[in-house]
Amino acid sequence: MERILAKDIGQHEGREVELKGWVDVRRDHGKLIFIDLRDRSGIAQVVFLPNDKELRSLADTIRPEWVVSVRGTVGRRPEGMINEKIPSGAHEVAAVGLEIITQTKTPPFDLQGDGHDIGEEVRMKYRYLDLRRSRMQGNVRMRAKINQYIRNFFSSRDFVEVETPYISKSTPEGARDYLVPSRVYEGKFYALPQSPQQYKQLLMVAGFERYFQIVRCFRDEDTRGDRQPEFTQLDVEMSFPTQDEILGLIEELYIGMVKDLYPEKHITQTPFPRIPYKEAMEKYNSDKPDLRKDKDDPNELAFAFIVDFPAFEWKETEKRWDAVHHPFTQPAVSSAADFKEKFEKDPGAILAKQYDLALNGYEIAGGSIRIHDPELLAAVFEAMGNKPEDVRAKFGHMLEAFSYGVPPHGGIASGLDRAVAILQNEPNIREVIAFAKTGDGRDLMMDSPSDVADEQLKELHIKIDKKEK
Ligand code: ASP
Repeated sequence: MERILAKDIGQHEGREVELKGWVDVRRDHGKLIFIDLRDRSGIAQVVFLPNDKELRSLADTIRPEWVVSVRGTVGRRPEGMINEKIPSGAHEVAAVGLEIITQTKTPPFDLQGDGHDIGEEVRMKYRYLDLRRSRMQGNVRMRAKINQYIRNFFSSRDFVEVETPYISKSTPEGARDYLVPSRVYEGKFYALPQSPQQYKQLLMVAGFERYFQIVRCFRDEDTRGDRQPEFTQLDVEMSFPTQDEILGLIEELYIGMVKDLYPEKHITQTPFPRIPYKEAMEKYNSDKPDLRKDKDDPNELAFAFIVDFPAFEWKETEKRWDAVHHPFTQPAVSSAADFKEKFEKDPGAILAKQYDLALNGYEIAGGSIRIHDPELLAAVFEAMGNKPEDVRAKFGHMLEAFSYGVPPHGGIASGLDRAVAILQNEPNIREVIAFAKTGDGRDLMMDSPSDVADEQLKELHIKIDKKEK
């Protein structure tokens, strides 16, 4: 007999079927035992009748979260017992056979309910159980739909999805790099990319014109607030774009996605307002203002583009000017000479062709038109405190690439973890990442970070200099 899915039992009325899955709940009603059998599609009600004594006493032993296979005949539930809330709710399966496939230890926490009241550490340690709850199933499955939507959206607009390396070289996004020691090249390190920024720009030099990728980024930042050491971006780059084209594309993406995947939600204002940075700071004292009309409404989405950011900001700790976005961003200057003159006069007054997308008070995307003049790029790196020889060592490959016929280009990246969390009405991004790390950067399920064998360190030419405690 073929296994069918719980949600489909209604299509098999009067026939014998087989279901496989987990016991979600078991209810004893005197003579009758009911179980809700859960599989990937949802839940179906199974009833064990008193006539088959052997079967009934086996059913008596089963407990929630056991894995079972049930054979039985699909019938309509009696009037009044119909559950409108689930697709299989008008039917039930009268069991004629039961196989207990695996049993379970008592789970460390309740898998019914939304789990928000359970300590996060224990949820993370037993994430594979936490993911069984329907809220988490919903989050992970909706995230997959969003990825699918994004892929269809960009592929149908002539964008090509290109994978870029994870084991790579430092790229400046303003955070610390995760380093990967090289075994073969003693004392040398790869860096995990803080974003594919340089690769996507090099793909423009390579003639792809339209690139996107759903990609992991790695930033070794202090564990503060709702951050993860690795996070996912929708990364986009275009050749010959105007800023309006890039913003229009992202706007179309999110409007379409909300319409298709979240029809119950409404967007406060379309087209999305475009607010200059200065105005946002003056009016809302924030470069990611929350423009919702009703902040208690979980279905309101207030998108806003923030534009015309300043190009540079003073870093007091390092006593130097730094790029507000990243150094590849085009400042509003006409040439390297014009840049040098303006930077000399008032670095803080130079604007950048840079934009962010805010949603309900969070930044969910950021990008810029890029510098494609190698002379200007070198001047910007130097203005930010790099010596000319460092610029060559760190970014010589970009300067060189830009000397071989580079198209004007620009792009954007959208932080998907945050976007999905907002769409799913979740309070933090860990709720929409299947295997999230804790707020302090640990994977409690795998027990990571962890010690490694001395032998491994030796191969990597690494000695640990442990601080005395
Ligand atoms: N690489 C940038 C970031 O990660 C996005 C971009 O400029 O396209 O924020």
